[in-house]
Amino acid sequence: MAAKVSAFIGIGANLGDARVQVEQALAALARLPQSRLTAQSRLFRTAPVDAGGDDFINAVARIETELPAPALLEQLQALELAAGRERPFRNAPRTLDLDLLLYGDQVIDTPALTVPHPRLAQRAFALIPLLQIDPFISIPGHGAAHQFVPRVADQAITKL
Ligand code: ADP
Ligand code: MG
Repeated sequence: MAAKVSAFIGIGANLGDARVQVEQALAALARLPQSRLTAQSRLFRTAPVDAGGDDFINAVARIETELPAPALLEQLQALELAAGRERPFRNAPRTLDLDLLLYGDQVIDTPALTVPHPRLAQRAFALIPLLQIDPFISIPGHGAAHQFVPRVADQAITKL
Protein backbone atom coordinates (compact mmCIF):
# COMPACT_ATOMS: atom_id res chain seq x y z
CA MET A 1 0.00 0.00 0.00
CA ALA A 2 1.33 3.44 -0.92
CA ALA A 3 2.14 5.92 1.82
CA LYS A 4 -0.60 8.37 2.76
CA VAL A 5 0.14 11.99 2.00
CA SER A 6 -1.73 15.05 3.20
CA ALA A 7 -2.56 17.20 0.16
CA PHE A 8 -4.26 20.60 -0.03
CA ILE A 9 -6.40 21.51 -3.01
CA GLY A 10 -7.49 25.02 -3.93
CA ILE A 11 -10.98 25.27 -5.41
CA GLY A 12 -12.24 28.27 -7.38
CA ALA A 13 -15.18 29.10 -9.63
CA ASN A 14 -16.59 32.27 -11.18
CA LEU A 15 -18.90 31.10 -13.93
CA GLY A 16 -22.44 29.80 -13.60
CA ASP A 17 -23.53 29.09 -10.06
CA ALA A 18 -20.05 29.32 -8.56
CA ARG A 19 -21.13 28.40 -5.06
CA VAL A 20 -22.81 25.22 -6.26
CA GLN A 21 -19.73 24.38 -8.35
CA VAL A 22 -17.48 24.69 -5.30
CA GLU A 23 -19.82 22.63 -3.11
CA GLN A 24 -20.05 19.94 -5.77
CA ALA A 25 -16.26 19.97 -6.10
CA LEU A 26 -15.90 19.35 -2.36
CA ALA A 27 -18.30 16.43 -2.66
CA ALA A 28 -16.35 15.09 -5.65
CA LEU A 29 -13.05 15.37 -3.77
CA ALA A 30 -14.60 13.27 -1.00
CA ARG A 31 -15.14 10.52 -3.60
CA LEU A 32 -11.63 10.49 -5.08
CA PRO A 33 -10.09 7.01 -5.23
CA GLN A 34 -7.52 6.05 -2.58
CA SER A 35 -8.28 9.30 -0.79
CA ARG A 36 -10.23 10.69 2.11
CA LEU A 37 -11.47 14.28 2.54
CA THR A 38 -10.24 15.28 6.01
CA ALA A 39 -10.86 19.03 6.18
CA GLN A 40 -12.49 21.83 4.25
CA SER A 41 -12.36 25.57 4.70
CA ARG A 42 -15.34 27.88 4.67
CA LEU A 43 -16.39 29.27 1.31
CA PHE A 44 -14.95 32.70 0.51
CA ARG A 45 -15.82 35.36 -2.04
CA THR A 46 -12.85 37.03 -3.76
CA ALA A 47 -12.35 39.59 -6.49
CA PRO A 48 -10.70 38.24 -9.67
CA VAL A 49 -6.89 38.69 -9.77
CA ASP A 50 -5.48 39.07 -13.31
CA ALA A 51 -8.74 37.59 -14.57
CA GLY A 52 -12.01 38.79 -15.95
CA GLY A 53 -15.57 38.13 -14.93
CA ASP A 54 -17.49 37.94 -11.71
CA ASP A 55 -16.18 37.46 -8.20
CA PHE A 56 -14.83 34.01 -7.41
CA ILE A 57 -16.05 31.58 -4.82
CA ASN A 58 -13.02 29.84 -3.30
CA ALA A 59 -12.30 27.15 -0.75
CA VAL A 60 -9.47 24.82 0.18
CA ALA A 61 -9.78 21.11 0.93
CA ARG A 62 -7.37 18.76 2.64
CA ILE A 63 -7.28 15.12 1.61
CA GLU A 64 -5.28 12.17 2.83
CA THR A 65 -4.36 10.33 -0.32
CA GLU A 66 -2.37 7.39 -1.61
CA LEU A 67 -2.46 8.80 -5.15
CA PRO A 68 0.91 9.94 -6.47
CA ALA A 69 0.91 13.66 -7.25
CA PRO A 70 0.64 13.29 -11.07
CA ALA A 71 -2.30 10.90 -10.69
CA LEU A 72 -3.96 13.32 -8.28
CA LEU A 73 -3.52 16.17 -10.79
CA GLU A 74 -5.15 13.99 -13.47
CA GLN A 75 -8.11 13.36 -11.18
CA LEU A 76 -8.44 17.09 -10.50
CA GLN A 77 -8.35 17.89 -14.23
CA ALA A 78 -10.99 15.23 -14.89
CA LEU A 79 -13.23 16.91 -12.31
CA GLU A 80 -12.63 20.30 -13.98
CA LEU A 81 -13.63 18.81 -17.33
CA ALA A 82 -16.72 17.17 -15.85
CA ALA A 83 -17.73 20.58 -14.51
CA GLY A 84 -17.57 21.94 -18.06
CA ARG A 85 -14.23 23.75 -17.76
CA GLU A 86 -12.98 25.27 -20.98
CA ARG A 87 -9.75 27.19 -21.47
CA PRO A 88 -10.50 29.71 -24.26
CA PHE A 89 -7.67 31.98 -23.06
CA ARG A 90 -5.31 32.39 -20.11
CA ASN A 91 -7.06 33.37 -16.87
CA ALA A 92 -10.46 33.09 -18.55
CA PRO A 93 -13.49 32.83 -16.24
CA ARG A 94 -13.87 29.24 -15.13
CA THR A 95 -16.67 26.96 -13.99
CA LEU A 96 -14.17 25.13 -11.82
CA ASP A 97 -10.44 25.45 -11.11
CA LEU A 98 -8.74 22.84 -8.94
CA ASP A 99 -5.13 23.54 -8.03
CA LEU A 100 -2.81 21.25 -6.12
CA LEU A 101 -1.45 23.69 -3.53
CA LEU A 102 0.60 21.34 -1.35
CA TYR A 103 1.44 17.65 -1.56
CA GLY A 104 2.86 16.70 1.81
CA ASP A 105 6.21 18.42 2.20
CA GLN A 106 7.21 17.59 -1.37
CA VAL A 107 8.69 20.01 -3.86
CA ILE A 108 7.76 19.03 -7.43
CA ASP A 109 8.94 20.84 -10.54
CA THR A 110 7.89 19.18 -13.79
CA PRO A 111 6.38 20.70 -16.95
CA ALA A 112 2.88 19.60 -15.89
CA LEU A 113 3.10 20.17 -12.16
CA THR A 114 4.69 22.68 -9.83
CA VAL A 115 4.22 22.08 -6.09
CA PRO A 116 3.96 24.04 -3.87
CA HIS A 117 1.68 25.93 -6.23
CA PRO A 118 3.80 28.89 -7.40
CA ARG A 119 1.21 31.53 -6.54
CA LEU A 120 0.03 30.09 -3.22
CA ALA A 121 1.88 32.65 -1.07
CA GLN A 122 0.72 35.58 -3.22
CA ARG A 123 -2.99 34.87 -3.49
CA ALA A 124 -5.38 35.55 -0.64
CA PHE A 125 -7.95 33.20 -2.22
CA ALA A 126 -5.61 30.24 -1.64
CA LEU A 127 -3.61 31.37 1.39
CA ILE A 128 -6.46 32.46 3.67
CA PRO A 129 -8.63 29.30 3.30
CA LEU A 130 -5.48 27.17 3.67
CA LEU A 131 -4.64 28.91 6.94
CA GLN A 132 -8.20 28.43 8.16
CA ILE A 133 -7.65 24.67 7.97
CA ASP A 134 -4.12 24.77 9.41
CA PRO A 135 -2.82 28.10 10.79
CA PHE A 136 0.66 26.62 11.34
CA ILE A 137 1.14 24.97 7.95
CA SER A 138 4.49 25.46 6.22
CA ILE A 139 5.05 25.99 2.53
CA PRO A 140 8.06 23.84 1.63
CA GLY A 141 10.93 26.12 0.71
CA HIS A 142 9.16 29.22 2.06
CA GLY A 143 8.49 28.62 5.75
CA ALA A 144 5.35 29.38 7.74
CA ALA A 145 2.44 30.24 5.43
CA HIS A 146 1.02 32.81 7.86
CA GLN A 147 4.01 35.14 7.36
CA PHE A 148 2.66 35.93 3.86
CA VAL A 149 -0.71 37.22 5.06
CA PRO A 150 0.35 40.90 5.27
CA ARG A 151 1.46 40.72 1.65
CA VAL A 152 -2.01 39.73 0.44
CA ALA A 153 -3.82 42.21 2.69
CA ASP A 154 -4.78 44.37 -0.31
CA GLN A 155 -6.77 41.53 -1.94
CA ALA A 156 -10.47 41.61 -1.17
CA ILE A 157 -11.72 38.41 0.46
CA THR A 158 -14.86 37.84 2.53
CA LYS A 159 -16.41 34.76 4.12
CA LEU A 160 -19.66 33.65 2.56
P1 ADP B 1 -4.37 28.45 -13.40
O1 ADP B 1 -4.95 27.56 -12.34
O2 ADP B 1 -2.91 28.77 -13.16
O3 ADP B 1 -5.17 29.67 -13.64
P2 ADP B 1 -4.98 26.28 -15.22
O4 ADP B 1 -5.93 25.76 -14.20
O5 ADP B 1 -5.49 26.45 -16.63
O6 ADP B 1 -4.37 27.68 -14.79
O7 ADP B 1 -3.72 25.32 -15.21
C1 ADP B 1 -2.79 25.35 -16.25
C2 ADP B 1 -1.78 24.20 -16.07
O8 ADP B 1 -1.09 24.35 -14.85
C3 ADP B 1 -2.35 22.81 -15.98
O9 ADP B 1 -2.46 22.23 -17.24
C4 ADP B 1 -1.34 22.05 -15.11
O10 ADP B 1 -0.59 21.12 -15.85
C5 ADP B 1 -0.42 23.15 -14.64
N1 ADP B 1 -0.05 23.07 -13.22
C6 ADP B 1 1.22 23.19 -12.77
N2 ADP B 1 1.26 23.09 -11.44
C7 ADP B 1 -0.02 22.90 -11.02
C8 ADP B 1 -0.59 22.71 -9.73
N3 ADP B 1 0.15 22.71 -8.63
N4 ADP B 1 -1.94 22.54 -9.66
C9 ADP B 1 -2.68 22.56 -10.80
N5 ADP B 1 -2.20 22.71 -12.05
C10 ADP B 1 -0.87 22.88 -12.16
MG1 MG C 1 -5.69 25.66 -12.19
